[in-house]
Amino acid sequence: MEESKTNQTVSDFFGCNVFSDRVMRERLPKNVYKSVQRTKQLGIALDSDVADVVANAMKDWAVEKGATHYTHWFQPMTGVTAEKHDAFINPTSNGEVIVEFSGKELIKGEPDASSFPSGGLRATFEARGYTAWDPTSCAFIKDNSLYIPTAFCSYTGEILDKKTPLLRSMEVLSEQALRILRLFGNDRATRVVTTVGAEQEYFLVDKKYYDQREDLVLTGRTLFGAKPPKGQELEDHYFGNIKQRVSDYMKDLDEELWKLGIYAKTKHNEVAPAQHELAPVFATSNIAADHNQLTMEIMKKIALKHGLVCLLHEKPFEGVNGSGKHNNWSMTANDGHNLLDPGDNPQDNLQFLTFLCAIIKGVHEYAPLLRLSAASAGNDHRLGANEAPPAVVSLFIGSELQDVLDALEQGRKYTSVADKEFEIGVDALPNFPKDTTDRNRTSPFAFTGNKFEFRMLGSADSISCTNTIINTIVAQELSEFADALEKSENFERDLRSLLVKTIKEHKQIIFNGNGYSDEWLDEAVNVRHLPNLVSTVDALPEYLRPENVTMFEKFKVYTETEIRSRTEILLDNYSKVINIEALTMLDMVRKKIIPACIGYSKEICETAAVKKNLGIDCFVETELAEKLSALITGIYQETKVLDEKVTAAQSMNEGLEMARCYRDVVLAQMQTLRALVDEAEMNVSENIWPLPSYSKLLFTV
Ligand code: ADP
Ligand code: MG
Repeated sequence: MEESKTNQTVSDFFGCNVFSDRVMRERLPKNVYKSVQRTKQLGIALDSDVADVVANAMKDWAVEKGATHYTHWFQPMTGVTAEKHDAFINPTSNGEVIVEFSGKELIKGEPDASSFPSGGLRATFEARGYTAWDPTSCAFIKDNSLYIPTAFCSYTGEILDKKTPLLRSMEVLSEQALRILRLFGNDRATRVVTTVGAEQEYFLVDKKYYDQREDLVLTGRTLFGAKPPKGQELEDHYFGNIKQRVSDYMKDLDEELWKLGIYAKTKHNEVAPAQHELAPVFATSNIAADHNQLTMEIMKKIALKHGLVCLLHEKPFEGVNGSGKHNNWSMTANDGHNLLDPGDNPQDNLQFLTFLCAIIKGVHEYAPLLRLSAASAGNDHRLGANEAPPAVVSLFIGSELQDVLDALEQGRKYTSVADKEFEIGVDALPNFPKDTTDRNRTSPFAFTGNKFEFRMLGSADSISCTNTIINTIVAQELSEFADALEKSENFERDLRSLLVKTIKEHKQIIFNGNGYSDEWLDEAVNVRHLPNLVSTVDALPEYLRPENVTMFEKFKVYTETEIRSRTEILLDNYSKVINIEALTMLDMVRKKIIPACIGYSKEICETAAVKKNLGIDCFVETELAEKLSALITGIYQETKVLDEKVTAAQSMNEGLEMARCYRDVVLAQMQTLRALVDEAEMNVSENIWPLPSYSKLLFTV
């Protein structure tokens, strides 16, 4: 068994657990296969008899691969995935069972998932939601179950998940982008898809240390921990050679992901010790979102097999870089053209600049939406902390492209690095470097040659919300452009003036310098007046701004009620996370940290007493005991204060008021308490301190 596996090549097992296009072509009658393809491309419903054939083929394939159950797999607003498994078996009248799976069961499920957050969309008496098959994302097998990717809605039509709005936003972007392509004379393309590659950062720690830390187990991050003597200052981990244990893990992980048809491609060590990254080859947005959810799940699962725990929290360790997720985004027409590729003929260049300007305008006008798409209690520890982009959204385009926009704005010819002159829209512009060293890594939204990279997301986030927002705002701008240009009698002239106007009005959002510097923050806020939404609590209320609601409703991505419910769920989640963290701190201090400090103090005092009896000087013991005694008093008192503050927060009105109280009152007190505990850690014997240290967590894998 082992041997045959080592003889297998990746191409032998890549996608072996996926009901892929190839499997469908092999197993479905030609006309049925064609219907499924049509459904995929046009988003139309399958006839019930066709669905029965597909379901049956899917079941046969799954059963051959050892599956006994199927599940509608969906993405409720908790940000993680949900599943409920049913066996394929059905009873027969003579008391036996048959293995069955109907088209109805494939297309629609009723998980009765009434406990998922709906933000007030569903009262419990009408709590039932249903799941609907998303044929654009392939079914797959995991742990003996056939997983069917689905959307999750209420019977009254409200969306209750993260997939539905993403699919809708892809649809609207396609429609609006096609209008622009038509203006440029493109009659071939019939669809524009958005593509995403999500680079995923994570930490690996030893399970035996993890298990000893209630904070990691309950909250995903360390709530205490003195700074280790060595951190990331030597930068010896970044792209460093990968240790055997980690490389075994990565190999296993790659194989598991490949079997599920996920193109895990790049892996390397990240900046912080014990931190790593995995990047997949890009896919269409909804598949990338499904795959990223699966990737996060499999990362955690495989880690356990290696005696490790994979931490996806945005900030597991204070003083050490946290983890993010870079969302690489582009648009491709189905005639094969990446619309963010500058291209090599004049026509393509002007078209590229049109899409670019739409994005510049969109990011400027809807920056708060992008910011809030990355808002969470965990990510608040990263954004603006010199390791991730600031909370101010800006856009990087690089010096070459900046020169092109300047030339366009000023109505002159563009001179390239090689001193060659080009006339925009008349000549072919040179190819811009995709991977030069000046690639700016501090920008929240950076053009990287043929795609944009949104860098604000936290490692644990679902990428759905971000991509729903990017797609919708770009669709919004493209629709405005198309409205203006479709009426034009002189396309070339009117397009130019539209682009120039857009650049003039929105170039404040472009910033090509160091996004981590204090000067930039000052300029962004005070000179350019860009919104600086520092925390989740500042960002979330922006969702309901009238212009945002109007846009989402115009494109039927969200209704106002749906936005309101989403805002509520996110605020509620924020409060809950901090509440759990505070309670965990209280528990750890009372049951572990204070007892440990008292125990050590006793040891010291006993030694001092013995020494004193013998007439030996006990200066060291006395000083240590006094210091510890003061710390214990401080810890005890700050714990009481934290307890009171949590109680106060719990009694606030739910929503914004409560979330504000957690941020301003509870979180601040948690920091005060932590500082004292971390100092105590530095003054107590390692043998007595009840928590594995940062050194152990970060440097022993
Ligand atoms: P870096 O770490 O320098 O940002 P990586 O190679 O780690 O670069 O990641 C680049 C990511 O961008 C990959 O996930 C890749 O698939 C993705 N990507 C490349 N081209 C596109 C595209 N056209 N659309 C979306 N994502 C893309
Ligand atoms: Mg990147």
